[in-house]
Amino acid sequence: MNPVPPIAPNPPVDQAPPAPADDLDRLRPPEEARATVLAFARLLPAETVPLAAAAGRVLAEDLVADADQPPFAAATMDGYAVMAGDGSPWREVIGERMAGRVTEVEVTPGTAVRITTGAPVPLGADAVVRVEATEPADDHVVIHQDLVAVGENIRPVGFDLRTGERILPAGTVLGPAEIGLVAGVGLDPVPVRRRPRVSVLSTGDELVEPHEQPGPGQIRDSNRLTLVAALTAEGAEVVYAGHAPDDRAALRALLDERLAVSDVVVTSGGVSMGQLDLVKALLGELTTVRFRRVFMKPGKPLNFATFGPDDRGLFFGLPGNPVSALVGFEIFVRPALSVMAGRHDTERPRVPVVLVRDTPVGDRPEYQRAVVRVGHDGRLLAANTGVQASSRLASFVGANALIVVPPQTEVGSNVLPAGTVVEALLLAPPLGPDAA
Ligand code: AMP
Ligand code: MG
Repeated sequence: MNPVPPIAPNPPVDQAPPAPADDLDRLRPPEEARATVLAFARLLPAETVPLAAAAGRVLAEDLVADADQPPFAAATMDGYAVMAGDGSPWREVIGERMAGRVTEVEVTPGTAVRITTGAPVPLGADAVVRVEATEPADDHVVIHQDLVAVGENIRPVGFDLRTGERILPAGTVLGPAEIGLVAGVGLDPVPVRRRPRVSVLSTGDELVEPHEQPGPGQIRDSNRLTLVAALTAEGAEVVYAGHAPDDRAALRALLDERLAVSDVVVTSGGVSMGQLDLVKALLGELTTVRFRRVFMKPGKPLNFATFGPDDRGLFFGLPGNPVSALVGFEIFVRPALSVMAGRHDTERPRVPVVLVRDTPVGDRPEYQRAVVRVGHDGRLLAANTGVQASSRLASFVGANALIVVPPQTEVGSNVLPAGTVVEALLLAPPLGPDAA
């Protein structure tokens, strides 16, 4: 395997000059906001890791087979290696070949060698007769098969992989089959992208830990663990997950510390219009803010900023409401992480779905949580998960899609009737037609 090449510096990003201050608060369409985020998402450097620890990682290079597989012609059945052209059904058994044990033996006319699956076919033999078609008779075997074809039950050299064949392209996520392929050709350790280092920070004086009993006016912090789970599922390395009070000095100190050591910082809360929405206030001092508001529901007050050398660091100031935070993660953070990790499947599948019931329409494009299933006619059917309030995290439970419901201004009504086709982002495979 070639050593991992040093990663070329990214070209400067077009949008690198900060957006004019009066543009930051413009309500921009989600597509425009996503394009801004992705323009700043840069490929992370490569590293090599032991193959045994590489599951879920993203390949940093194309992998090429450096030898044929199998490296020898191998039996694909337990049976007898023979010469196909031999006339007589009787063969003298002159030896055996078992997988992993190569004995010196050569098949000649009138003879056979007992062989197991995966063993190298002995010299002279050009077919393997499976054991079910034979019958032992002392030191002979009787073949109960009229015709034995040349090559029968033999896997030739290079049948599975040829020398020089590309096994996997860079950008592949190493799942079980991919790990096995790489193991088979002996590429251990394997070159992968470094995982994005992410810090997660909840903000708000009202928050207590999940194991604590909330006092008057307090609630438990649910966003931090939600975001840690979402980040981990995307292969990020969560280097810190903590909580900051609504105190300017304390928040500033914590942000300073996290910005210095993270590829990505994700906060929740503190980005809307309240006087203690300090994340928003501090971002202007610590980072280069790129946008503050997106024309979408939920998740309008979503702050995106860049930091560090070459603006390589990405800062996502997600709104505090739990559904807004998770939708914001899905639409902006997740795609950025997959670009940084060099994945070639950076986007969720977008598919047309049929609404199965009348669906309310809001004043902004809305990402409603929905269950998508395959209908009996093969079309995809979508039902939203009930009340879509941005505080109601239960609306995400069991959802396998976000359906994109256009705003009233486009629909011309406050409801989309059942039967309307909308776009869905699939977060997981659709359910089968008969799933409960
Ligand atoms: P904020 O964006 O800080 O104004 O918060 C908006 C709403 O989300 C408020 O009701 C907060 O109490 C709630 N909230 C903020 N952070 C969290 C969190 N980490 N977990 C659960 N709810 C939160
Ligand atoms: Mg708050």
